Amino acid sequence: MTQYPHLLAPLDLGHLVLPNRVLMGSMHTNLEETGDWNRIAEFYATRARGGVGLIVTGGMAPNREGGVFPGAAGLFSPVDIANHRLVTERVHDAGGRIAMQILHAGRYAYGPECVAPSAIKSPISPFPPKELDEAGIEKQIVDISTAAARAREAGYDGVEVMGSEGYFLNQFLVRHTNRREDRWGGSYENRMRLPVEVVKRVRAAVGRDFIVIYRISLIDLVPDGSTFEEVVTLAKAVEAAGASILNSGIGWHEARVPTIATSVPRAGFAWVTKKLMGKVTIPVITSNRINTPDVAEAVLAEGCADMVSMARPFLADPEFVRKAAEGRGAEIAPCIACNQACLDHTFGGKISSCLVNPRACHETELGIEPAAEPKRIAVVGAGPAGLSAALVAAERGHRVTLLEKAGEIGGQLNLAKKVPGKEEFQGLVDWYAGEVARVGIELRLGRAADAAALAGFDAVVLATGVLPRDPEIAGQAEGPVLGYGDVLRGAEVGRRVAIVGAGGIGFDVAEFLVEGGRHVTLQPAEWRREWGVADPAEARGGLAPGGPRPEAPAREVLLLQRKAEKPGRGLGKTTGWIHRASLQMKRVRMMGGVNYEAVEPGGLRISHGPGRERPELVEADTIVLCAGQEPARGLAAELEAAGIAFHLIGGADVAAELDAKRAIDQGARLAAAL
Ligand code: NAP
Ligand code: SF4
Repeated sequence: MTQYPHLLAPLDLGHLVLPNRVLMGSMHTNLEETGDWNRIAEFYATRARGGVGLIVTGGMAPNREGGVFPGAAGLFSPVDIANHRLVTERVHDAGGRIAMQILHAGRYAYGPECVAPSAIKSPISPFPPKELDEAGIEKQIVDISTAAARAREAGYDGVEVMGSEGYFLNQFLVRHTNRREDRWGGSYENRMRLPVEVVKRVRAAVGRDFIVIYRISLIDLVPDGSTFEEVVTLAKAVEAAGASILNSGIGWHEARVPTIATSVPRAGFAWVTKKLMGKVTIPVITSNRINTPDVAEAVLAEGCADMVSMARPFLADPEFVRKAAEGRGAEIAPCIACNQACLDHTFGGKISSCLVNPRACHETELGIEPAAEPKRIAVVGAGPAGLSAALVAAERGHRVTLLEKAGEIGGQLNLAKKVPGKEEFQGLVDWYAGEVARVGIELRLGRAADAAALAGFDAVVLATGVLPRDPEIAGQAEGPVLGYGDVLRGAEVGRRVAIVGAGGIGFDVAEFLVEGGRHVTLQPAEWRREWGVADPAEARGGLAPGGPRPEAPAREVLLLQRKAEKPGRGLGKTTGWIHRASLQMKRVRMMGGVNYEAVEPGGLRISHGPGRERPELVEADTIVLCAGQEPARGLAAELEAAGIAFHLIGGADVAAELDAKRAIDQGARLAAAL
């Protein structure tokens, strides 16, 4: 008897039976734009081998004007069809099924040719769209249905028509973006004409025995969004038009409510999908922040949906479904929803990968092959870099000893997991602990390694991490000054706090201090109140009429930095706004361009600008140092003196702008080559 009876139940679509209820949701990885179709095929085939029920590709443009950015991949020509066929054949050979997402970006298309129902610029693009005329609308319908026909020709098992997230079809549905007065605008019947017509024409183009998923926006989270009554009307019309599955879309890209970040509660929007259950007869898929088989199983068991969509979890572990089915759920590398290597890369024009799994999207390049000659390898430091190196080395057949001076593994991850909204880091540490035991790494905790302990190994890897940088402010030693590590480990902190340093850790510490022990990510109803999310059946678009209603902050916090720019600029591309908004809601003040003059009785004396003008005393009961880090390389010098060769990785190698992504990637790449 499986632990996951709902998740692993087959789903009969009439012409095809999916082996389980797991959809790998669409992700734009930028792989398609490389033109390396062998690599793209291997990426998807790896996930198919892992047992996922159905894969949906990253969004493919139906035409040039609808591409997310100029040069976005699509299905435009016979050459494209041949390329896509490489993918579908490889996935089918691996026993999988794959649908192609057709994504018309409308006014979100990052280019001057973009088109939309009305000429209203989006707040997340500099390009005002052209308003389409009747012929222009017909062209878009033809292009989308032609793309669907081509997808069938290329061997796909279906298509997903992207109708949510504020893209083209979604833009027709709501007055926020559709001010037309012809038959494509005005009444809801008119506004939904385009998505319904598109599904009808797509169905006509592909025939009956082909999956047509329609991704429907269930909760827009923008002003003037759809009511739930309208959503249900659309869902029924789309079903009648020929859709075989409805997939949930949550929030427009321009929404000011986080929908997939790590601070969003797990399965935090499944309740919205549940509202659609019973309103249509075709299967309904739920999505967003579902990252373990237990969460997925619970969502299905509670009747929230017929199927779950997970996207990023398939970057973290392509074998998610196989491991769950084999009772090896604890071995699934967890997606911690950080966006650091996936969406931040996608939006930064880089190829996506995964913080937890550096092989994601690099399957053809980063091979983990059995070692030709097993060696005895010592890894010093069980933070992210050391853990990653140790695991990959052990997987390759090396005998690995992992030495850690603390009494537990995890390094800086143990600090991250204490930050409200970063609870997922606990899962990552737990996974590492399980894997270290499973692959038979010898773990020596609670003892600092020295040259004597490292003699006799064939290879030594130093992953000794970082030490907090000392900003050396006058009077610091005598004042109420704490390091970020002390604070996150629970040291007593006063009511008024000045934080020195506004990098990732300064922001995290501010969040920790204003929350005062609360974890709203673990309390979905609280979280929705804080971010102003309402039931779309009661409030248009699911935006609470009174807006966000955050709890009063537990402390008065001032976040400081020396650079004269806006604090938080260096935070994650897709998550930085959430951290800034969250701290703003908690009335954290931020100040750039300051000089730290001295810690004095009553607080921290600062001045402003290069001329050290306007000195002032910032009143503070506690001053917390978050001034970056330096490499911890004490052991390196000792090993050099003893003539023991070593490899340096992680923060011990380069501390500047170190994050777990770089540490894990560097550890894996070194171990793959040892
Ligand atoms: P960081 O991002 O490099 O920030 C260090 C801060 O300290 C900056 O605000 C810097 O600003 C200040 N600083 C540097 N030298 C100083 C000095 N001598 N005296 C006083 N202030 C000084 O480093 P971090 O905050 O320690 O974070 C480390 C890494 O962890 C980051 O690179 C980040 O990638 C990662 N991280 C990421 C997240 C995330 O949300 N993605 C969260 C936590 C950590 P000024 O020089 O302008 O004063
Ligand atoms: Fe998940 Fe982070 Fe990996 Fe993206 S980078 S897939 S969010 S763990």
